[in-house]
Amino acid sequence: ERIVSGAAEVGELYEEQSLRPQTLKQYIGQEQVKSNLAIFIEAARQRQETLDHVLLYGPPGLGKTTLAAVIANEMGVQMRTTAGPAIERPGDLAAVLTSLEPGDVLFIDEIHRLPRAIEEVLYPAMEDFCLDIVIGKGPSARSVRLDLPPFTLIGATTRAGSLSAPLRDRFGVLSRLEYYSEEQLREVVLRTADIFHTDIDPSGAAEIARRSRGTPRIANRLLKRVRDYAQVRGNGMITYELAAEALELLQVDRRGLDHIDHKLLKAIIERFRGGPVGVETIAASIGEEAGTIEDVYEPYLLQIGFLQRTPRGRIVSELVYHHFQMEVPVNERN
Ligand code: ADP
Repeated sequence: ERIVSGAAEVGELYEEQSLRPQTLKQYIGQEQVKSNLAIFIEAARQRQETLDHVLLYGPPGLGKTTLAAVIANEMGVQMRTTAGPAIERPGDLAAVLTSLEPGDVLFIDEIHRLPRAIEEVLYPAMEDFCLDIVIGKGPSARSVRLDLPPFTLIGATTRAGSLSAPLRDRFGVLSRLEYYSEEQLREVVLRTADIFHTDIDPSGAAEIARRSRGTPRIANRLLKRVRDYAQVRGNGMITYELAAEALELLQVDRRGLDHIDHKLLKAIIERFRGGPVGVETIAASIGEEAGTIEDVYEPYLLQIGFLQRTPRGRIVSELVYHHFQMEVPVNERN
């Protein structure tokens, strides 16, 4: 497991419950998304209607599940949670949908992984709050229509692009979550430290934030590890020095990069003169799947400008040479 992975580790999800903000006010960052949602929520409440279906997309760990729960809370309704891969047959979906109370939020994580046959059951449910169920088989099969309580579907996905167009079109609100700034992550760290009753000074929080790859889940995870270090090696207080020392030990560098990022960037520099080089070629050279590089390793490196995507392949930027304290090659300068 990568300590800097945005995805939750086994057992982490349960612990995260206690760290989740409950209201839009407590939810840090994502200002644009929040201010839009605040208006839609207020309007729906005034009309005593359900909120439009919402699609949240963005990399793992940025707060999609948390925001869905905040929306349900602000609407004053219950949230039922499921995930694309957990719904295998139309009956699974029907069971969830018929158990909803009027106005409830149904949260479907990884909605891009719903089987196509299930998606088709979802369309009339989203549009007209009804289910068409086929009873029986062969010539005696017949279709019955079941009314559902009005509900709000909140879908979450890390790849909006792999959602089918008809499904995407049925969401009234599409919100893209962005990586967090260091300042926002510092707030996340301070808030979590407060919940943990951990002593931390502002520079300690800033150092954890700097290495958290724009991702609250990573910030919270790093804080936990640094807290252990402070307790065992220090006097419990998280300062800048202590945080930096602990994170060096955990092999999370000053920009939040780990050995896998280093391997990827150095391969492009050493074997392909800094690029351009195709993802497939990089993948073969470091023994990873091209899809994993694109979905997991690359997004943050692209975000911070360490990697650039060009029609001819990936290029490492000058920033990478500076980061590794390497000389920038001449062909790189012009
Ligand atoms: P995702 O569903 O996008 O993978 P989660 O909603 O599970 O991400 O968030 C991961 C963790 O990060 C949560 O436990 C939560 O405590 C924290 N978190 C996410 N977004 C925020 C935020 N805006 N403010 C404070 N904490 C957050």
